Amino acid sequence: MNIVVCVKYVPDATADRRFESDNTVDRVDVDGLLSELDEYAVEQALQIKEKRADEEIEVTALTVGPEKAVDAVRKALQMGADKAIHVVDDAIAGSDAIATSLVLAEAIKKAGGEKPVDLVVCGLASTDASMSVVPAMLAERLGLPQVTLASVVETQGDQVRIKRDTDTATEVVGGTMPLVLSVTDQSGEARYPSFKGIMAAKKKPLETWSLGDLGVDAGQVGLSVAWTQVEETAARPPRTAGEIVKDEDGSGAKALADFLASKKFI
Ligand SMILES: Cc1cc2nc3c(=O)[nH]c(=O)nc-3n(C[C@H](O)[C@H](O)[C@H](O)COP(=O)(O)OP(=O)(O)OC[C@H]3O[C@@H](n4cnc5c(N)ncnc54)[C@H](O)[C@@H]3O)c2cc1C
Repeated sequence: MNIVVCVKYVPDATADRRFESDNTVDRVDVDGLLSELDEYAVEQALQIKEKRADEEIEVTALTVGPEKAVDAVRKALQMGADKAIHVVDDAIAGSDAIATSLVLAEAIKKAGGEKPVDLVVCGLASTDASMSVVPAMLAERLGLPQVTLASVVETQGDQVRIKRDTDTATEVVGGTMPLVLSVTDQSGEARYPSFKGIMAAKKKPLETWSLGDLGVDAGQVGLSVAWTQVEETAARPPRTAGEIVKDEDGSGAKALADFLASKKFI
C-alpha cells in the first residue's frame, strides 16, 4: 500500500512572525516547523502501517514550500516515514489554496508512479492559514472520495472507517481506498522522533521536485493568479495595563462591582 502524508511547513507560532510587503506570510526569514496539526496525520499513517505489519506499506511525506520547508519532511522521516518529497519552486510563493492543491495533486500522482497512491493523509488545517480546504480540493483534483476530520481511524482491507465528532453527534463515515483522509488533533498523540529515528532519517530517500518535474506551468501558481488577495494586515494592538481595584477604605467591593457592571459582566 502507498500512503502519502501531506505536511506543511509553517512559521513557528511561538517565534516572531511577519508578513511580506505583498501581505503574504514571510516563510523564508522566520523560524518554521512542521505544522503541529500535520504531526497527527503522520502519526495516523504510521499507525496504519504498524497495525498492518504483514503488508508492504510505504509512507511518503510530501511538502510544498520554500527551501526551508525541507525541515517539515525531515521531521516526518524522523518520526518514521519511509521517504520524502519536497516540491520547491520560486514560482509557488504566494500561492492560494487552489494552486497549492494543484501542485500537491500532481506530486501525489507522480509519487505513486506505476503503483498509484492508495491513501492521502492530511491534517485538520494548517496552523498558519487554517482554511481546512486543501484535503477536499485534493479529493476533487484526484477524483477520489474523501473522509475528513477523523478523530478515530480504522482500516481493514481497502475499507476506511472514521469517526467524526460534531457539536451534536459523532458520525461514522466509511469509504473505499483509494481516498483522501484528514485527521484532527483528537486522533491520537503524535510520537516524538526517537534518537534512533533521527539517525535513521539521515539515510532515507528525500527527493526534491520542481514545477517542471510535475508538468505544472508556472503561470498556474503564485500570487498573481490567486483568486483572492489579502489587501491589508494590521498587528493586534498591544494589551493595555489592567485596572487594579484597591480596597484601602472599604470601597473595593463597590468599585469592583461598578467595574464589572460597566463591562456588562454583571
Ligand atoms: C497572511 C496570509 C496571507 C495570505 N494571502 C493569501 C492571498 O493573498 N490569496 C490567497 O488566495 N490565499 C492567501 N492565503 C492563504 C494561503 O496561501 C492558503 O490558504 C494556503 O496555500 C493553503 O491553504 P491552507 O494552508 O489554509 O491549508 P489547509 O486547507 O488549512 O490545510 C489542510 C491540510 O492540507 C495539507 N497542506 C496544506 N498546504 C500544504 C503544503 N503547502 N504542503 C503540504 N501539505 C499541505 C496539510 O495536510 C494540511 O493540514 C494567505 C494566508 C495567510 C496566513
